[in-house]
Amino acid sequence: MKVNEVYEDTKQELLNTCLKMVENDLVIGSSGNASVRVGDDVIITPSSVYYTEMKIEDMVVIDLKGEVLEGFRNPSVEWQMHLELYNTRSKVGAVVHTHSIYASAMAVLNESLPPMIDETVPKLGSHIRVSEYAMPGTKQLGTNVGTAIEERSAALIANHGAVCIAKTLEKALHLSIALERTCKIYMIAKQVGTPKHLPEEVVEDEQDLWEMMSGY
Ligand SMILES: [Zn+2]
Repeated sequence: MKVNEVYEDTKQELLNTCLKMVENDLVIGSSGNASVRVGDDVIITPSSVYYTEMKIEDMVVIDLKGEVLEGFRNPSVEWQMHLELYNTRSKVGAVVHTHSIYASAMAVLNESLPPMIDETVPKLGSHIRVSEYAMPGTKQLGTNVGTAIEERSAALIANHGAVCIAKTLEKALHLSIALERTCKIYMIAKQVGTPKHLPEEVVEDEQDLWEMMSGY
């Protein structure tokens, strides 16, 4: 395998993102995964390596067909989902997939996240859908997530977790934190009453803002 030193800094950035996923309780152990696009290549986290023990040499470089170009580990089991998102959304530069508690609880309920917080609709898009169920690590899971995340920056993955996409890793991580926080607010609100959605015309305006801010 060739060693491409130009990717060292990006691999370090990917590792830093993973550690922040752990710090923010979005994942534990080696669960979830993240990747970043560099030109026609994708740098992705390895399969089954604890983030707290991960080194930049563990990162795997693949092309947009899934061929391993660099690295001695297997790429994350969800590499097909990552590639689906890069191949269908040409301006997406980073993917962060988490198993955060509240987003996963929504995914277990198979309940989409309605537009109800002014702060998050322009960041994530309006109704955040739950993908159709598919087994982890399958191409079908990637296809289903690709459909659920259309015209959005986030999707809930049925009985599994959540995923956010953005132009940069930093932003994809930020969106994952925002998604988890919003799901938490929604679940707490549901426990004591009936959450009220934003007015329809506001949702439309904020969805327009999402288009501007996401840059897709
Ligand atoms: Zn997962």
